[in-house]
Amino acid sequence: MFLPQEIIRKKRDGEVLSAEEIRFFVQGIADNTVSEGQIAAFAMAVFFKDMTMEERVALTTGMRDSGTVLSWDHLNLDGPILDKHSTGGVGDVVSLMLGPLIAACGAYVPMISGRGLGHTGGTLDKLESIPGYNIVPDNRRFGEVVKDAGVAIIGQTGDLAPADKRFYATRDVTATVDSISLITASILSKKLAAGLDALVMDVKVGSGAFMPTYEASEALAQSIVEVANGAGVPTSALLTDMNQVLASSAGNAVEVREAVDYLTGARRNPRLHRVTLSLGAELLVLGKLARDPEHAWQMLEQALASGAAAEHFGKMVAGLGGPNDFMDNPARYLPTAKVVKPVYAQHSGFVTAMDTRAIGMAVVNLGGGRKVASDSIDHSVGFDQICTLRQSVDSSTPLAMLHANDEAQWQAAATALRDAITLGEAAPAADPEVYRLVRN
Ligand code: URA
Repeated sequence: MFLPQEIIRKKRDGEVLSAEEIRFFVQGIADNTVSEGQIAAFAMAVFFKDMTMEERVALTTGMRDSGTVLSWDHLNLDGPILDKHSTGGVGDVVSLMLGPLIAACGAYVPMISGRGLGHTGGTLDKLESIPGYNIVPDNRRFGEVVKDAGVAIIGQTGDLAPADKRFYATRDVTATVDSISLITASILSKKLAAGLDALVMDVKVGSGAFMPTYEASEALAQSIVEVANGAGVPTSALLTDMNQVLASSAGNAVEVREAVDYLTGARRNPRLHRVTLSLGAELLVLGKLARDPEHAWQMLEQALASGAAAEHFGKMVAGLGGPNDFMDNPARYLPTAKVVKPVYAQHSGFVTAMDTRAIGMAVVNLGGGRKVASDSIDHSVGFDQICTLRQSVDSSTPLAMLHANDEAQWQAAATALRDAITLGEAAPAADPEVYRLVRN
């Protein structure tokens, strides 16, 4: 029998906790026998004294096992269960494309996604732009859509990693969110509760990233890869660029439209394409559906060219309550804003820097994201045709097309966009889309 205060004392003094001690503490978080004060003290002790990889694995698996761990055995699926998770960004619409792409290559993707957080967009908020799309189906429907469409992107069910829910709420109000050990366990406990065979993690780097520096993003990527593999799930991470908006759009309906256009081939932002296929290729290799990344890349290109990926997305939308002909007629269904006009720069030049976080906040201020959790969202607002780093802009080439629902909102967002984009006389050197692949 352990005592929570003894476990906190050991960690406070920099000792290594046993897996049993960590499991006991996590169980206490889940069943309320550990108080909020004890959770806060434990989080602060970990923040300062950190955890070994073995301790992180025990914390992750303990939180994973604090609620339901999904199993897919009863569906007799003929392919691996694969998933991707991103630390979040602006214009990061990758999940909407990667899920159906991977499904078209023979995998099953039960993707449990989140809402927007701070300046970053949320996959669920984007999908709710589609009329009728139900992000909280019951487990039976979830399973049916995973089986039939190969992919179902939905919201978190109540009983997935409940210890993380309580732990995170305390961390959020005690300045203990930004501990790599705790972030690793928080992200992975929820992902691993989905019963995955393999996972690829997209850790963002740059002005719109959750982690503040390249080094911190790299440390998080290494921690996630080591801990997920330690917990028995083959996992790699890619460090990808968030020094500019990833897609050509940022918002909800505008990003869904871009994902549809990408899948049907109407338009493909090359940067978004490279990030999506790099993540997808690694995932197909981890899931043993491809021999190597080159083979995987070919499979993904084929799934796009044949229209198979688009078909899987359409099936998912229809299976979860959206229109049957969504892929043929996205414009008929997606909400549109009242004021849609280009934003021009004050003078011409090359785009030398983008404050991506500020562009994400401009979307939030337009009503496209939440300032507090209870806010409702305006799915129609945002930016599209956003300029890229190194591009030249002038009086005939706008910074972006801005979608707002009144003139005052439009003006405020236009000012925010102009302030977020730095222009210079020469194009800077290009950043790579993928900085590094971290494998086990
Ligand atoms: N996202 C999570 O789910 N958990 C964290 O701790 C940080 C980001």
